[in-house]
Amino acid sequence: ADLILEAVGLRRTFHLGRRSSVTALDDVSCGVRRGTCLAVVGESGSGKSTLARVIVGLESADAGEVRIDGAEVRPTTSRSRLRARAKLVQMVFQDPQGSLNRSLPVAATIDEMLRVHRPDLDRAERRARVLELFAEVGLTERHADARPTALSGGQKQRVAIARALAAEPEIIVLDEAVSALDVSVQAQVLDLLDRLREEKGLTYLFITHDLSVVRAVADDVIVMRRGRIVERGTVDEILDRPAHPYTRLLLECAPRPGWVPRRGVIEELAQQI
Ligand code: ADP
Repeated sequence: ADLILEAVGLRRTFHLGRRSSVTALDDVSCGVRRGTCLAVVGESGSGKSTLARVIVGLESADAGEVRIDGAEVRPTTSRSRLRARAKLVQMVFQDPQGSLNRSLPVAATIDEMLRVHRPDLDRAERRARVLELFAEVGLTERHADARPTALSGGQKQRVAIARALAAEPEIIVLDEAVSALDVSVQAQVLDLLDRLREEKGLTYLFITHDLSVVRAVADDVIVMRRGRIVERGTVDEILDRPAHPYTRLLLECAPRPGWVPRRGVIEELAQQI
């Protein structure tokens, strides 16, 4: 398969004190096929964010390696290397506020990205491109000229997506990108992400603690627990025919209306892990 992104044997241990440490990544290998979405699912502390940070070069690994388009990714402070990498991979986080300047209209944030990644555009062309990007994520000129505080959570997340698209990356790493949104908004943003991936041939690494959202975007899924991958497969395999008791436990507990714990089932699965 044509893997645009590959992680091989990643290990990362954090030392907390003299005698205490936590292994956030314990021999993690995965690959993402070009133009597809790999969902990384796991509960809090399973190592998902560390994996994302190592993959984009924000964090170093103790062992193993990451290759994007065949080239090894390492943490760097070189501006030209960081810029080249940003052109390849962009990240969207749970809290879009972090990448927006509170005191400026959100268009200015996108304009900043364009100045770096599209030096060929003049001011007027950048403005036109900003509006084009806003239209692509379902926002208007009115939103572009608003301050971030005037926008809803879903609108801010759309701006964060537009900002990522401004760099024209091949890969977008989405770290809990829909997790803070109301479910009705979540569905709309998931739909947008899926459409953008299809239209632009993007590759996604979609990180979430919530198995119930992966069907909407993912082609493949890895399930993580305590720094290890416990199960991997296509989205249908993982959701319809999970083999590992931990995956079955997560599915058993996934949010759905009218849910009550099935007596005995959850305890039984928990004991098998
Ligand atoms: P997730 O994203 O699945 O919640 P993380 O990758 O954030 O998991 O964390 C995995 C484990 O590594 C957790 O136990 C966390 O406390 C620990 N960890 C992550 N980053 C650091 C850090 N910078 N310093 C110390 N421990 C960390």
